[in-house]
Amino acid sequence: MRPMIASHRGGSLQWPENSPTAFRNTADLPVDQVEFDIHPTADGEIVVIHDATLDRTTNASGPVATRTLAELRSVTLNGTDGESMLTLAELIALFRPTPITLRMEIKPDPQHRPYPGLLQAALTQLDAKGMRARTIITSFQADTAAAAAATPGLAGAIWLVSPLVQADIGLDGIAAVADEMDIRRLGLRISHLDASMMAELRLRGLRVGAWAVNDAAAIKRAISLGVDVFTTDLPSLALELRG
Ligand code: FE
Repeated sequence: MRPMIASHRGGSLQWPENSPTAFRNTADLPVDQVEFDIHPTADGEIVVIHDATLDRTTNASGPVATRTLAELRSVTLNGTDGESMLTLAELIALFRPTPITLRMEIKPDPQHRPYPGLLQAALTQLDAKGMRARTIITSFQADTAAAAAATPGLAGAIWLVSPLVQADIGLDGIAAVADEMDIRRLGLRISHLDASMMAELRLRGLRVGAWAVNDAAAIKRAISLGVDVFTTDLPSLALELRG
């Protein structure tokens, strides 16, 4: 099977992660999906940024969700020429004219608690532009992935399994949680995935993708394993290697 390619955070080894530049460049690539992360603002908007705090990727600090959109507009993304983070609406507008599927990761707050209402607010924005059917929702939090899986009309819902969870509960535990929560799609770290695990999970009716596929060797491995989809920070190399 020919895996689909998701440009992770807009291709964050090629361009500054989750930046307008990264997304504009990804929009010009023949990738299947664009992966990005969302957090709410203090005034009910939704912004595209990975961390729950501004410290690592911007010139500001502190939690994202305690700032208004106007405040966040004056925050500059590191490594860019003065760019600020996109809103979800702006990202939707950028990709709507392309054939690329949105792969939206719903992030938790700095204490790893789900933001109340974030999924619903994001769905409202997708629906306003007719993009729900072109969107896959992902989360490392099984509850959030399950809520997405129970949402009608999406292109998919993926539970991202961290190596820590995988070590803790094993494949049997992962399959049991997926069953109990009606989750049909998983994303495992490529370094923690092999052919026998793929076969076992598929036997249990689960679809399997890989994440953190960020060098040539990992990309080749994801392709030869035949994962459904993989996220990569090097989308151009992934496209070249997939052929
Ligand atoms: Fe992400």
